[in-house]
Amino acid sequence: MAKRLIFLGPPGAGKGTQAQILSEDHQIPHISTGDILRTAVARETPLGKQAKDYMDQGELVPDALILNLIQDRLSYEDTANGWILDGFPRNVNQAAFLEELLAKLGQNADCVLNLSVPDDVLVERLLSRKRKDDNESTIRRRLEVYHQNTVPVIEFYQQRNLKTIDGNQNMEAVTELLGQAIS
Ligand code: AMP
Repeated sequence: MAKRLIFLGPPGAGKGTQAQILSEDHQIPHISTGDILRTAVARETPLGKQAKDYMDQGELVPDALILNLIQDRLSYEDTANGWILDGFPRNVNQAAFLEELLAKLGQNADCVLNLSVPDDVLVERLLSRKRKDDNESTIRRRLEVYHQNTVPVIEFYQQRNLKTIDGNQNMEAVTELLGQAIS
């Protein structure tokens, strides 16, 4: 059965790590908009040049840059057996766009996984990471942006197939809980 999973959660919740594990276990592509954008920035593509300043400041890049990108990515052949979206949708407009896109593709998300971790734990985790946008002021801004823009996405999916998982435990325990949630 195809597995189509949407991963929600604040920066530093461990979405990327867990999505990668699920992707390997289920042989479905891990689609991280953050990774796609970082690659574009590193290659200095037109997309990368437009996205860079927003990313460096911890802001969301404009939807106009992201929506085409996700539409394009979900049309690749490797998505036939499913996918894991990590970092998208990040606001309600993106979530509404995704609904329409999936309807056009005749697809449905099987599960929306929400990885929950308290802010103080996130700040600590992010400060110990070595990414360019992981300095203290950017981290604070990314968390604010998360609460303003992405928490409403949780509400958007609340009436549907949303499963919230406690991400404030060790990696193996979270992997186990996620496995149970989607089985
Ligand atoms: P991430 O790796 O998911 O934390 O994303 C890193 C940065 O990329 C974010 O802080 C945003 O600037 C940008 N980004 C990633 N995904 C999105 C998205 N769906 N919408 C807008 N900006 C995004």
